[in-house]
Amino acid sequence: WYSFVPTTKLFIDGKFIESKTTEWIDIHNPATNEVVSRVPKATASEMEAAVASCKKAFWNWSETSILSRQQIFLRYQQLIKENLKEISKLITFEQGKTLADAEGDVFRGLQVVEHACSVTSLILGETMPSITKDMDTYTYRLPLGVCAGIAPFNFPAMIPLWMFPMAMVCGNTFLMKPSERVPGALMFLAKLFQDAGAPDGTLNIIHGQHEAVNFICDHPDIRAISFVGSNQAGEYIYERGSRNGKRVQANMGAKNHGVVMPDANKENTLNQLVGAAFGAAGQRCMALSTAILVGEAQKWLPELVERAKNLRVNAGDQPGADLGPLISPQARERVCSLIEKGVKEGASLLLDGRNVKVKGYENGNFVGPTILAKVKPNMTCYKEEIFGPVLVVLEADTLDEAIEMVNNNPYGNGTAIFTTNGATARKYSHLVDVGQVGVNVPIPVPLPMFSFTGSRASFRGDTNFYGKQGVQFYTQLKTIISQWKEEDATIAKPAVVMPTMGN
Ligand code: NAD
Repeated sequence: WYSFVPTTKLFIDGKFIESKTTEWIDIHNPATNEVVSRVPKATASEMEAAVASCKKAFWNWSETSILSRQQIFLRYQQLIKENLKEISKLITFEQGKTLADAEGDVFRGLQVVEHACSVTSLILGETMPSITKDMDTYTYRLPLGVCAGIAPFNFPAMIPLWMFPMAMVCGNTFLMKPSERVPGALMFLAKLFQDAGAPDGTLNIIHGQHEAVNFICDHPDIRAISFVGSNQAGEYIYERGSRNGKRVQANMGAKNHGVVMPDANKENTLNQLVGAAFGAAGQRCMALSTAILVGEAQKWLPELVERAKNLRVNAGDQPGADLGPLISPQARERVCSLIEKGVKEGASLLLDGRNVKVKGYENGNFVGPTILAKVKPNMTCYKEEIFGPVLVVLEADTLDEAIEMVNNNPYGNGTAIFTTNGATARKYSHLVDVGQVGVNVPIPVPLPMFSFTGSRASFRGDTNFYGKQGVQFYTQLKTIISQWKEEDATIAKPAVVMPTMGN
């Protein structure tokens, strides 16, 4: 039966084509571990063809009027809306998250497409008239050329949509390499993009792992790389791409702390904590995976455990599921061994999700909500990103102590403070060295008119994803200094008729 498993196509020069490779990677449904599709490791000549197609399409695309490009994205956002449920089903099938969460995945990506439609305001240059007699200076923001994106498994739609729409609306062409575990959503999105009117060759898609990544880092025709994923891959790609003279932006791992003050709204805070720690089975870079309970708030721990117990673990397409499986048996093993290490190193296991049984899905990669308390900063479960439904809980006597802990952690992706005191919230937001801060907001992922501003070990590069910075990343400035001497004016007779702009 194996040969009947559907294959994921490459998307090259406007065509969905079967790879000629001999190397294929199996894609599993994480709820059952059945093989649902196979993805090719694209051959060198297929990858070359993809870049050549991007390069060939660049001139026409970058010269296409900005209003025409905007129109394509206006049609695209409508098509994504119309197909949101279908894309979400594909995400649940390959990635495992619940359907409601998969819809959020598409929706947050859709918002970036909508934001891309405001390119006509975002891409404006600057001007300064009369820097000397008859001389003016102005700048254009111009596309770079061929850009590339490398995406992780946890947001199969949203993260590719952070990348190619912003790049392409600015006039770049784009080579995308999705995560080899979850390529389906991107393939669907590529078809919709074509239907919206994107010309052949403007977006190309290759598949693979290390070889595809190295190809992107090394190819002389690729000018910029957007990466989202782990530190191991991101630091490597940042270094290799930069060494080859490319612009690279890399969003990476995290350890996000939620600081709970004793004056917080208890009901609200506990619900927020539980949702943000265990939602998506903790497989979010902005998951609130670490809680610091300050002072009296430590007494809330038993209630926190009770609420976490009530979450329903099930296959993502089952009604009422709160969290689905982890992406792979290896991910499950890794999460379980980090829990085990936590216990060995002295943490107390208040809730253990390792033996969770899901009826009808006995082969799935499920781990239930797990809480490790009395965790200390030197423990492995604190130092490593777990990327599973595990909340590690630390204690602090004061706000200052909590701030020190957060700032001593190398990651700087996101954090949240829960309090009803404005001064406490302000002090925390001001002193904490983390790129995105939520005040009574557990997962502060900015809407795309702002940028995704992870910092320290969670980010490499200078300009962030989407927002104004996204446009900066995918464009370069050209500065024009021009002199038109007054005495050279040739029109002697005044034109008295209303100008009609070219008619
Ligand atoms: P990953 O790094 O394993 O994979 C990401 C991409 O890099 C994939 O396309 C993969 O093919 C490639 N890759 C994997 N290992 C590589 C290597 N050694 N060398 C070169 N390329 C490699 O990441 P993942 O497991 O798919 O995603 C989870 C990670 O992504 C977590 O660490 C999470 O925090 C992070 N993440 C960060 C953000 C953010 O915005 N900061 C968002 C989502 C996910």
